[in-house]
Amino acid sequence: MDEELFGSPSLYALSFQELEELMKDESRYRSRQVWGHLYSKMDLPEEMTDLPLSLRARLKVLLPPALAEVARVDSDAGETTKWSWELRDGARIETVLMRYRDRATVCVSTQAGCAMGCPFCATGQGGFKRNLLCEEILEQVARAWRDLRPERLTNVVFMGMGEPLANYSRVVESIRRLRDDFHLSPRRQSISTVGIVPGILRLATEGLPVTLAVSLHAANDELRNRLVPMNKRYPLASVINACERWVEETGRRLTFEWAMIDGVNDRPQDASELATLAKPLGAHVNCISLNPTPGFGLSPSPPRAIKIFCEKLRSLGVNVTVRSTRGAGGHAACGQLSV
Ligand code: SF4
Repeated sequence: MDEELFGSPSLYALSFQELEELMKDESRYRSRQVWGHLYSKMDLPEEMTDLPLSLRARLKVLLPPALAEVARVDSDAGETTKWSWELRDGARIETVLMRYRDRATVCVSTQAGCAMGCPFCATGQGGFKRNLLCEEILEQVARAWRDLRPERLTNVVFMGMGEPLANYSRVVESIRRLRDDFHLSPRRQSISTVGIVPGILRLATEGLPVTLAVSLHAANDELRNRLVPMNKRYPLASVINACERWVEETGRRLTFEWAMIDGVNDRPQDASELATLAKPLGAHVNCISLNPTPGFGLSPSPPRAIKIFCEKLRSLGVNVTVRSTRGAGGHAACGQLSV
């Protein structure tokens, strides 16, 4: 339980033992019943209809939701849903659910705003407000899962608003609680980072087989300093070093994210530089066309440039995927999250 911000817990704050303690004056089986509603059925208290009305009312007061829906936008013919939520202190965040034929992935925010200042990103353009609590991260997963019922959520990506490794302990606690309480294996969880070196090194020692996605976007310091300002603090060589340690320690897959910007990082020499970094690490490259944001003047690479760039990478022995953009119509795509 993480009470320092609000002084009282919200819906997904408590461990089972803490829930039992909170409900100690109820019959013993009630806490097990409430736990099942929260973590198997993803119910809100008003939906726990096999509980007495008085207990439902009590739960609403003792464990209020951390998230209040401000807006919901469906796009991609209903396959993508973006929520804007207001937190208990008025801060706002967003969550995106993407439904595919064989899986469903939720992209969660880990901070309200972001301090990393990547110039192409709507979240970065809006500045930093605060770190999210573990219960606020978990409730995003539960609320998206609730929307999917009776289907199951299969994957969680920590790639929404914020830099996950800048909120390290809450993110790691969230990974563990998703594993233990929601039964979502860390193998189905991905953490993105701009390259916070101490965070990568520490995460490598946690024994959590997550996928690490490094938002590289440039393969030399001069360009990366402009696209990812955190590169001035943790230059490329130190990030690549940490990636080597990650692969050695965990044996887990590493991906490099590459937002393709017309004439900036989509040239043949960019592909060659990227291959030099990616190939020795066995890193998989995800290319994604830049999503336009109001505060950034540059344009996405045209489809032909993306095709040539990827062919060049493949010819140099690098595995590459062109990621389809989800949610651009609802301003839910990568780098477009802002509230
Ligand atoms: S791209 Fe990620 S790390 Fe960079 S400003 Fe946006 S949310 Fe923050």
